[in-house]
Amino acid sequence: MVKVQSSTIGYPRIGGKREWKRALESFWSGSISEVELLTKTKEIRLDNLRKQKEIGIDLIPVGDFSLYDHVLDTSIMFGIVPTRFEYAGGKVPLDTYFAIARGNKDAIASEMTKWFNTNYHYIVPELDNVTPKLVENRPLEFYREAKKELGINGKPVLLGPITFIKLAKSSGDTPFEETVEQFTPLYIEVLKELAEAGAEWVQIDEPVFTSELSANEHKAVQKAYTAIHEAVPSLKIIVQTYFEKVANYAEVSALPVHALGLDFVHGNTIELLQKFGFPKDKVLLAGVVDGRNVWKSDLDVKLSLLDEIQSHVEKDRLIIQPSSSLLHVPVSIELESKLDNVIKGGLSFADEKLLEIVHLTKAVQDGKETIATELEENKNALTTLNNSKYRQNVVVKGNIKNLTESDVNRAAPFAERILAQRKRFNLPLLPTTTIGSLPQTAEVRKQRSKWRRGESTAEQYEQFIKDQISKWIDIQEEIGLDVLVHGEFERTDMVEYFGEKIDGFVVSQFGWVQSYGSRCVKPPLILGDVAFSQPITVKESVFAQSLTKKPVKGMLTGPVTILNWSFVRDDIPRFEVLNQIAYALRHEVEELEKNGIHMIQVDEPALREGLPLNLSDRKGYLDAAVHAFKISTASVENDTQIHTHMCYSDFNEIIDSISALDADVISIEVSRSHGELISAFEKNTYDKEIGLGVYDIHSPRVPSKDELRQNINRALKTINPNQFWINPDCGLKTRNEEETIAALKVMVEAAKEIRAEQ
Ligand code: GLN
Ligand code: ZN
Repeated sequence: MVKVQSSTIGYPRIGGKREWKRALESFWSGSISEVELLTKTKEIRLDNLRKQKEIGIDLIPVGDFSLYDHVLDTSIMFGIVPTRFEYAGGKVPLDTYFAIARGNKDAIASEMTKWFNTNYHYIVPELDNVTPKLVENRPLEFYREAKKELGINGKPVLLGPITFIKLAKSSGDTPFEETVEQFTPLYIEVLKELAEAGAEWVQIDEPVFTSELSANEHKAVQKAYTAIHEAVPSLKIIVQTYFEKVANYAEVSALPVHALGLDFVHGNTIELLQKFGFPKDKVLLAGVVDGRNVWKSDLDVKLSLLDEIQSHVEKDRLIIQPSSSLLHVPVSIELESKLDNVIKGGLSFADEKLLEIVHLTKAVQDGKETIATELEENKNALTTLNNSKYRQNVVVKGNIKNLTESDVNRAAPFAERILAQRKRFNLPLLPTTTIGSLPQTAEVRKQRSKWRRGESTAEQYEQFIKDQISKWIDIQEEIGLDVLVHGEFERTDMVEYFGEKIDGFVVSQFGWVQSYGSRCVKPPLILGDVAFSQPITVKESVFAQSLTKKPVKGMLTGPVTILNWSFVRDDIPRFEVLNQIAYALRHEVEELEKNGIHMIQVDEPALREGLPLNLSDRKGYLDAAVHAFKISTASVENDTQIHTHMCYSDFNEIIDSISALDADVISIEVSRSHGELISAFEKNTYDKEIGLGVYDIHSPRVPSKDELRQNINRALKTINPNQFWINPDCGLKTRNEEETIAALKVMVEAAKEIRAEQ
């Protein structure tokens, strides 16, 4: 009889209660030794493996664990250490490993950037001036460990050569093909040792295959995998893709490997099978359970999908698994003791997803009837949640349907609005402001946790927040800023704060996922219909405005950012959820305006990063994003000024959509790339007002006036002074008070000088 196997691609590293984070941070602060760190993390790693085995997964990944990041792990495996760090060759010492990731007193850290379209960040490999060679076979060590300690014949996981090289940076002009040739023998060395040690399956992650590669690049890919296959013919190599459908399916599916892993949740992979079939000589690892989301799978739907898949691949060549590594979801819902059972019943974190995979595998192998009880439980839980009050808000659904074109457009075009706004605010040329948050000192965090723990009353906490606001209104007045902010002292996180105050969200207790290094985030869960129920930010903004004659900007997180940084229900289209969030924010914007706040900033730092990997989906996403932003902001009077803010990214491709948001003013974080960014706006003759971060807030150094003058003057070469605002980059909440005040003073002085010169 055919045994259908279950598999998984990767497991969360952080531990159910973030034990991993604690271990790392204790090591960094010097309170535990390297040996203690390694012992503790080994315990976590083995626990993770043991759990996967107990749940009943057949192909358990090893080597997916990391002390920081799997891309950095791959770099150091090949001795790729930037020359600014001391490194004498051989196995890279742990201190050097962490220094590359975090910087040290002598050298700055490597760049960190987002892993495809996730909120996970990897450390960018730097290929300049290094000759890669295999200095440590990490997958082999993990493979041996699992075998020895737990008797698990694991499936080693490697970041594939093509993806690794594509994610790396180098200033040289070595062609891609040559770099691939340089790395191929190193991968072969790793794989040979794995084969010798007894590994049967190896997973080589190539998520980059979800993007188009050129014909020449594909030739190099084909050559590399052919060489690998010839060197280790006995290994069952899986080329694993995820996050989207494969872009060049014909080429990728023809690679000489044993198996191909495809994501059947994101992107229309099933259509590829329908159109082109699946190669007869390969095993398919079908990623049918969403590895990026926290909702329970509808097992019936998944079984139909698996039926459809089986019309292209027979059972004996089928392995069932999640759509991606479970790195992107929290560990287990077992830990959630405060959630309503109706909600809990609809959730599935990493462990629960693995159980779903086990059930699906059994059904495919032995027939649906063998999991009849599980199917029934699954159906009941989902029906209960779908029919619950959380998902049945007919008013919201109706309101959104009834929105007309004029509801989502400002009453007048920008050229006309800006005149009304200038009249209202009467700001000087080159107005100065900040992006919203002001230093969140230890005292602010302490007062908040006291209140959360019930050690102070809500009134005491609110009074504390008010005192902070007053103090900083005075400071901003004294510095001489033109447009003030209340400072966001009441917010821990710019999405969670809104999640707590809008209907349709829940915040979990332990729903943490790794964002970068030891840093974890706890995205709110959007489980139901999203609706405004109470003013969110009005109190603080109105209080701040009452203290000054200068305008105070209201400060909201935009709909796209809230969507992209949450776990979004998957029973209705994502864009519908987006519109609901937008509609709730529209209400908030109107409340602010009604209460005398006539400048409102709607932050969209996550707009760019949500851009789909698949080129053909981008327009749909951008149009939906623009539409949502306009739902939120279009109902205000002409002389109410809408601001937006975005963090640094490559804007060239989305500049038209940015303009279509129709925000009166946009501020952009640019410290990392002045020149490039301005060109995006200049080339496209952006017609609305712009503020570019004129100094990098990430450094404690107070910038000099000359430096700021230079930065401002550089911007003014391409941007009209009438259109230009002067502000620092976002994120002042991470700085201390003294530095912030000193730097803002210099900024205002520089602005005054340049203003006088115009
Ligand atoms: N208003 C926020 C701040 O100033 C914006 C944060 C962000 O851009 N991510 O910090
Ligand atoms: Zn920003």
